[in-house]
Amino acid sequence: MLRKNELLEIKEILLQMKREILKALEERIKSNDISAQREIGDIFDDADLEQTREFNLLLGTRERQKLDQIESALARMEHGEYGFCEDCGENIPAGRLKAMPFATLCVKCKSERESVEGLASAPLYVEEKG
Ligand SMILES: [Zn+2]
Repeated sequence: MLRKNELLEIKEILLQMKREILKALEERIKSNDISAQREIGDIFDDADLEQTREFNLLLGTRERQKLDQIESALARMEHGEYGFCEDCGENIPAGRLKAMPFATLCVKCKSERESVEGLASAPLYVEEKG
């Protein structure tokens, strides 16, 4: 079970990742051709739907996936569901979560899934250590 300070630490890692993506997006908006035809402010002043469309346009697929994973990890934290393996329900060790805050499976279940799925499906995220 994660201690509260570990949970806060991981939450901070997630929020930092989110900030980095949004910052990169902001810089892209400033320099992107898409926004050349319109005022930068418009993108954020428009209706939510339009904003989402622009947002998705500017975000790469990988960044969008990462952002989705961040949001869903944060949502799981809100609901007290964070840190449990999706398959077996066991606690995922804090060390693993710190290295891979989006992890939804324990090491055992992840390797089992990978051996079942084989090379047919690429993993959603690349394990990054450090
Ligand atoms: Zn498991």
